Amino acid sequence: MKKVIYPGSFDPFTNGHLDIVKRALELFDEIIILVAKSPTKNPLLNVEERVKVLNDIFKSNKKVKIDSDDGLLIDYAQKNEIKTLVRGLRASGDFEAEFQMASMNRELYNKLDTVFLMTSAQYYFISSSLVKEVWNRNGDIKNFVPPEVFKSMISKKS
Ligand code: ADP
Repeated sequence: MKKVIYPGSFDPFTNGHLDIVKRALELFDEIIILVAKSPTKNPLLNVEERVKVLNDIFKSNKKVKIDSDDGLLIDYAQKNEIKTLVRGLRASGDFEAEFQMASMNRELYNKLDTVFLMTSAQYYFISSSLVKEVWNRNGDIKNFVPPEVFKSMISKKS
């Protein structure tokens, strides 16, 4: 059974992330969406809320598991006997940071490989940080996130 970890902050989980999950499911038998516990700047949703909303989105898909972790990614991968990570790539700006991170992870655990999926054209401009910025300035972000995420953000605001 081919398992893959999709690690990230997912604050919030966007339609760009969702597209990567769907496409990774064509390549792997199971995907673990691993929410980083490390504090992001001004989190929109806390880790528990992010995990809850992800469980909601994928409740009927047995091939998707949700977890959170605050340790080293390679430790999580080793503990769960998983040798592959999936990450998304948007503009060339992503490449430098992703290349560095994949290289560091491989240096720390040489069995670990990172598979990159190119963003689908309609999502290349969507990032959690931009969604957050638009939201904090009262902009409309409905088209950029799954409905479950939108609902959770609305209920937090009110
Ligand atoms: P991190 O904080 O670890 O960068 P993010 O939650 O921002 O995590 O993103 C997780 C992964 O999803 C990263 O590999 C990122 O490049 C990818 N990603 C984010 N937005 C998109 C998108 N619109 N299309 C494709 N990949 C994306």
